[in-house]
Amino acid sequence: MASKRDYYEVLGVGRDADEAEIKKAYRRLARKLHPDVNKDDPQAEEKFKELSEAYEILSDPDKRARYDQYGHAGINENDFNFEDFARGGFGGLDDIFDMFFGGFSGFGGMGGSRRRGPQRGSDLQYRLEISFEKAAFGGSEVITIPRTESCNTCNGSGAKPGTEVKTCPDCQGSGQIRISQQTPFGHFTQTRICNRCAGEGKIVITPCTTCHGSGKVRKERKITVNIPAGVETGTRLRMAGEGEAGDPGAPNGDLYILLQVKPHEIFTRRGDDIYCEVPISFVQAALGDEIEVPTLEGKVKFQIPEGTQPGTSFRLKNKGIAHLNGYGRGDEFVTVKVVIPRKLNAKQKELLLEFAEVSGDEINPEQKSWLKKVRDALGV
Ligand SMILES: [Zn+2]
Ligand SMILES: [Zn+2]
Repeated sequence: MASKRDYYEVLGVGRDADEAEIKKAYRRLARKLHPDVNKDDPQAEEKFKELSEAYEILSDPDKRARYDQYGHAGINENDFNFEDFARGGFGGLDDIFDMFFGGFSGFGGMGGSRRRGPQRGSDLQYRLEISFEKAAFGGSEVITIPRTESCNTCNGSGAKPGTEVKTCPDCQGSGQIRISQQTPFGHFTQTRICNRCAGEGKIVITPCTTCHGSGKVRKERKITVNIPAGVETGTRLRMAGEGEAGDPGAPNGDLYILLQVKPHEIFTRRGDDIYCEVPISFVQAALGDEIEVPTLEGKVKFQIPEGTQPGTSFRLKNKGIAHLNGYGRGDEFVTVKVVIPRKLNAKQKELLLEFAEVSGDEINPEQKSWLKKVRDALGV
């Protein structure tokens, strides 16, 4: 999907909508947009999927918080439980039950497609703005990210240390329950997530007091990001295992750092080459001179030759940005901008007039050939 719509917009609710409002909006729209009621709309499937996605994120406080802070970038595939919309048509029949019978416990068991077993933690993405110099030379930045971590008190089990974790009696530890239902669409047998244990297959008798039984805690975590030399805007750095905590026995998600490089006051960058403009006087241009040229490592002396024309570029080899692969650097291109004085005093004017006189026709050596070109082109 090229550009995703805002989830609040999809549900037609304000950013301050509470849980009940979100649920209500979802039910209303689901009834309207479900593909079974819109058989002649080829986009019904997409629309319904979009709606379900929006609801799944905004109905979960944790996912919603991430979405509020980072937008779509804060959300990733692991945040969606109904990944087999595409495969199995509409797993959303649960949802139709929900609509017609008002029963069942709502969304948690949608489609029964939630994977069993310990879940890997979600990936996180963080946008980091860095200076031009840091992109050029590398360095490190300390960032603070909110993330879910495994609870230290109970090692992620959710049970108060020293207490028992029981097999769920409703599902006998499978985490799933089979259900048969007669509906206006026919007879369905479905497997859904066990409500009692939320699909875990286990029940905590005495919940851990630190995490209230969830096995996870929210933390603001400071992380040092190492930035290699040569990165640019759009470079994504992966920090394995620094995302959200996984279930016990499952790995953590990864943290992705999306870099944004601030523009430089003097330099612009194209690939690993950098460009800048240096003003020189028309006297320096005519006579040549040693001028000072800025580089990423400070000023260097540079000899411009006699008769330098405006707009001439000079290359300073290996003064550009390090190649990200670690070998070599780009170049720096310095373009001279010849500045014509806006004001001259009497003495200066006199000298320039004298210069013109001495030069005679030679004052503009290119004029003759230019005039000839004009004549040839215009036929006059
Ligand atoms: Zn705990
Ligand atoms: Zn159960």
